[in-house]
Amino acid sequence: MFIYYYICIYVLVYLYLSISIYIYLYYTILYYSILPIEDKVLVIGAGGIGSEHLKNLALAGIRNIHVIDMDTIDLTNLNRQFLFRMKDVGKGKAEVAAEFVMRRVPTCKITHYNNRIQDMNDDFYRQFKVIVCGLDNVEARRWINSKIHSLVEKDADGNIANFDSVIPMVDGGTEGFAGQAQIIIPFCGVKCFECSTALFPPQKVFQLCTLASKPRIPEHCVAWVTQIRWDELRKGEKMDFDNPEHVQWIFERASERADQFGIKGVTYFLTLGVAKNIIPAVASSNAIVSASCCNEVIKLLTYRGHTLNNYLSFNGQEGFSASYEDVKKIDNCKVCGKFVPVQVLIPSDEKVSDFIARINAHPSFQTKSPSLFGPYRGGAGAIIYVRNMRSSHENLELPMSQFVNSGEMVEIHDPEIAEQRLGAIVVFEPSASS
Ligand SMILES: [Zn+2]
Repeated sequence: MFIYYYICIYVLVYLYLSISIYIYLYYTILYYSILPIEDKVLVIGAGGIGSEHLKNLALAGIRNIHVIDMDTIDLTNLNRQFLFRMKDVGKGKAEVAAEFVMRRVPTCKITHYNNRIQDMNDDFYRQFKVIVCGLDNVEARRWINSKIHSLVEKDADGNIANFDSVIPMVDGGTEGFAGQAQIIIPFCGVKCFECSTALFPPQKVFQLCTLASKPRIPEHCVAWVTQIRWDELRKGEKMDFDNPEHVQWIFERASERADQFGIKGVTYFLTLGVAKNIIPAVASSNAIVSASCCNEVIKLLTYRGHTLNNYLSFNGQEGFSASYEDVKKIDNCKVCGKFVPVQVLIPSDEKVSDFIARINAHPSFQTKSPSLFGPYRGGAGAIIYVRNMRSSHENLELPMSQFVNSGEMVEIHDPEIAEQRLGAIVVFEPSASS
């Protein structure tokens, strides 16, 4: 009888010891193989999502983080950008965020830069293993997307010559209760940020006639005050949306307008939102998106799992849903594909300044501040317009036909958005008399 008792005890002790040793070894190996991570990670943006990125990455054991943000802390940031306090208002976001996280996680070193991303050179970006973004605007995303593509070293056939030069980028963004995270790995088959820019909705603009005669929604009432009423009643005074008296005045006039047309829903915050063209930022949406981005960063650095393939979107507006898509690159992408010059039809007397406005609004270009270069003719200069070259500014009032014949190509370069030059084949519309 006792022999069975001893056997049972023996088996139990044996199992206990072997399981304990197994668990101990498992966690020891896991700990030393994953943590700490010494690879350099760049966080772009130290605002709502950037604050989350810094906290998540530091706590995950990433020890060498660099953060860049040109913004200073505003009072309105404090409700969600949790690394900042009242005493920090007016200071640089990158610096305050870095110091806060280093105080909490002393093993993590965070280097901060209070700069524009466009001011840093190629060597700066080359030192990073992964770049993770928490940006609030499309232009900066387009620029960094273009930059990581331009850093890839290729051979004569156009294939990647050095895989160390391929720097993956993880990008997160939120809009109210919705958000998305995506991975961009330059020239590795997945879509880049530029591939989808043509799909972006155009900026919301209200027709002036709607505002003036038949407003339907509260936003129309606010836009009527900012675009029409202000100039009628406060002519010559510069509207400042950071001045509470101005916002209050706009709010009161918009409320009167709404009452007149029986429209409900004009509030002070709606006024501020419409006036500044801002979408409310929701702290928990930032947390969800950043958590997803940081998981991808850790997988990219440790190879501990398959990375997101390659675009995740979640919607928390109507209940909650999340889905991911394997989005392929587009062949005519101006950053990751072979961009084919696009034909642009213009009136034969179109001025250079109007052509620039046309290119800025064109879905294939969406430039902000482009320079234009015409075809070379007998060694003559090809410059049509360059922002930093004052002598070329006189050309703005000249017709395009003076620089280019119908069917010829104009090169377009906007360094704020992309390294690459783009081509537009200018075709003149036949004039009405011909
Ligand atoms: Zn692309």
